[in-house]
Amino acid sequence: MSATVNRRFILRERPVGDFAPGVLQRVVEAVPTPGPGQALVRNLYLSLDPTNRIWMNEEPSYLPPVALGEVMRGIGVGQVVASNTSAYRVGAKVGGLLGWQDYAIISANDALRPSVIPSLLPVPLTSTLGVLGTNGMTAYFGLLHIGKPKRGETVVISAAAGGVGSIAGQIAKIYGARVVGIAGTHDKCNWLTQELGFDAAICRRDANWREQLAAACPNGVDIDFENVGGEIMEAVLQLMNTHGRVVLCGMISQYGKTTTDNIAPRNFGEILIRRLKLQGLIILDYMHRFPPAQLRMLWWLKRGKIKERSTIVQNLDNAPQALVQLFNGENIGKMLVEIGE
Ligand code: NDP
Repeated sequence: MSATVNRRFILRERPVGDFAPGVLQRVVEAVPTPGPGQALVRNLYLSLDPTNRIWMNEEPSYLPPVALGEVMRGIGVGQVVASNTSAYRVGAKVGGLLGWQDYAIISANDALRPSVIPSLLPVPLTSTLGVLGTNGMTAYFGLLHIGKPKRGETVVISAAAGGVGSIAGQIAKIYGARVVGIAGTHDKCNWLTQELGFDAAICRRDANWREQLAAACPNGVDIDFENVGGEIMEAVLQLMNTHGRVVLCGMISQYGKTTTDNIAPRNFGEILIRRLKLQGLIILDYMHRFPPAQLRMLWWLKRGKIKERSTIVQNLDNAPQALVQLFNGENIGKMLVEIGE
């Protein structure tokens, strides 16, 4: 890739309904120059996340909306190539909100400033966006701090073959739970059961997936690790045991919907009848607790108790289409873009 220009994707208009690549505009600018207290980062990998769609909305969520005309917000990793601050030395790898662009200007004074990645980390750089990054930490804290699995309990995980779900399921196995995944293809289901040790996996595109799910949970469901919402969440709620826990991690099936759409789950009464404990999760709340969790995750990785997989799309130019692919379920494991051409 040319080092002399900065390709950037700007939010041109707000999406209505599902994400469409046309809401982003590709622009080519000069590589910026860092000012006092700033550093210049050459971005290497961009994380594609369902929450990218949420950030495009006009309404504030857990972060302010991306402004029209602003570079699309995105989590990434990169390397410092110029620096006017001792906080970021040239050559250091950094990870954080680097945006959909070749180069980012970062400052140690930013509230959500990128962090420096330890140079001797014994894993590929991409793992800092996967198992050791937001996805892995979401799985870890969602499952262990909200779900609190006990040996022999049944955990159901939707979007189970994705970045968060595949890790959450493996942690639940480490804790001795019976783990049932829901995913979009039979290939993904085979990966979950044959390679990751899930006890069962249901393909959500099978006509009788509800019956299969019920059959895979003969003792009911104690923990719903919810990534999808919609009719899948409705079906899982219907199987929950009294006093079960719902980790509301995500609702990807609902992200393109507006308040006038038919938002699901509609069987909210099950939470009352079954005395469920439901808690929403935003991983930003746990950031100060990442280091010991990352160490544990690393330990599991190195002992083969957790396996990681990524789907890597080449070239920043393909990022908008790759986000469509993420929503279509074309990824297995963590979805990333390798930025260079
Ligand atoms: P994934 O890698 O799981 O990718 C998304 C997957 O969702 C797709 O591969 C697809 O899998 C599934 N999917 C997409 N649309 C639908 C649909 N309409 N119905 C059912 N399944 C669908 O993404 P992540 O691991 O990054 O994220 C998973 C969830 O976790 C998301 O809801 C995300 O918003 C949430 N999240 C929450 C965080 C937090 O702080 N709370 C942090 C990070 C993620 P398939 O086709 O196999 O079903």
